[in-house]
Amino acid sequence: MYAEILAVGSELTTGAKLDTNSQWLSLALADLGISVLFHTTVADELDWMVAALKTAAERVDVIIITGGLGPTLDDLTREAAARCVDVPLVVDEHSLAQIKAMFARRKRDMPERNVIQAQFPQGAEPIPNARGTAPGFWMEIPRNGRPPCRVAALPGVPSEMKPMFKEQVVPRLETGSNMIRRARINCFGVGESAAEQLLGDLTARGRDPEVGITVHEATITLRIVAKGTSTHECEQKISSTREIILNRMGTLVFGEEDEELEHAVIRLLGQQRKTLSTAESGTGGLLAHRLTSVPGFDSSYGGGYVVPTTAARLSMLEIDPRVMQHYGAISPQTAMALASACRRRFTSDFALAVTEWPSFKAEDASQAVPASYIALATKKDLIFEEVTHFGDPAIAKSRTAKAALNMLRL
Ligand code: ATP
Ligand code: MG
Repeated sequence: MYAEILAVGSELTTGAKLDTNSQWLSLALADLGISVLFHTTVADELDWMVAALKTAAERVDVIIITGGLGPTLDDLTREAAARCVDVPLVVDEHSLAQIKAMFARRKRDMPERNVIQAQFPQGAEPIPNARGTAPGFWMEIPRNGRPPCRVAALPGVPSEMKPMFKEQVVPRLETGSNMIRRARINCFGVGESAAEQLLGDLTARGRDPEVGITVHEATITLRIVAKGTSTHECEQKISSTREIILNRMGTLVFGEEDEELEHAVIRLLGQQRKTLSTAESGTGGLLAHRLTSVPGFDSSYGGGYVVPTTAARLSMLEIDPRVMQHYGAISPQTAMALASACRRRFTSDFALAVTEWPSFKAEDASQAVPASYIALATKKDLIFEEVTHFGDPAIAKSRTAKAALNMLRL
């Protein structure tokens, strides 16, 4: 079965908003074994919406529309759908009552315009919306000599669209014979091509399950995609490939699915009942931001200093000024001095520190690769690592923060 997603809205075609609905829906449809062949984005223009619908109905079996169901004049999905099959819009009294009740619960009068949200192309079936005023609808577009194309129209607001799709659209889409399941394994501390070598035959094209590699700011994500005729079959394939990957990648693996390095670090610290503090120059608080984003961080992460200037480093951490004078602000010695001063101040088990970094331009290839330093202080040790900066300077913060977090895992 083939599908097309029709994202409606001039805020999407002008670039003011990013169409995240199509991405989400495509993944959800793939899990049902339904292949999405087209993503179409169309402005709030009636004629073009009708044209887009008609084109889609010719080439796929299912169309999922998102957006254009609001009460304002530019919300034209209902009208476009009606025109496409040449029927009038008719009021559905049950939907109207539900919209009125929604306004009553919010202690507001329903503006007259909202009546339009209870209108549907004649013959369409409303899809109730428990979280907003715009109901969606199901309808069919007849085709010559072929089964009709099925259409589900849903609101654009992602928090309304997603549950409506899961609860009311999925049960009606017969699942394809090809089920798909996915899993992600996250690694740090290895390049893309080295990762590919470690994985060997697993990444071969056409293998089932498929294993793909993507990189985002130095985090390597291994994506497993398994196909089968049942959920059970897919899950078994995922689990055997996952075992092989965990074996081959060893300590490079820090987490799975949405888990980031900071989650892994907080988990490890919790298991060992240890505490951490941070002192950041170049990363300007990004380490603290990442660590405090993990639920339950406060039993392991005590806090940190943001010390982007020499004055701040001297006054807040009281490190020996001679260290910075002698070795410079960007040096292993300064990184280690920051880490041990921070650990003392917080009386934590571990402290991570990041130095400043030199200003650099990505396009200046003639210069030596600029570097900065990160350090880890523990009760017994004081160690540092060099972080080299290449490529997009905007990514340096993220990569450096990750490299620092990674020091705690090893
Ligand atoms: P509403 O009842 O809220 O008006 P609607 O169906 O008319 O619902 P729109 O007016 O098109 O929806 O969009 C409402 C909100 O949802 C806007 O903030 C819009 O940016 C967002 N939105 C619409 N389409 C998408 C999309 N494809 N991806 C992500 N967000 C979207
Ligand atoms: Mg809109």
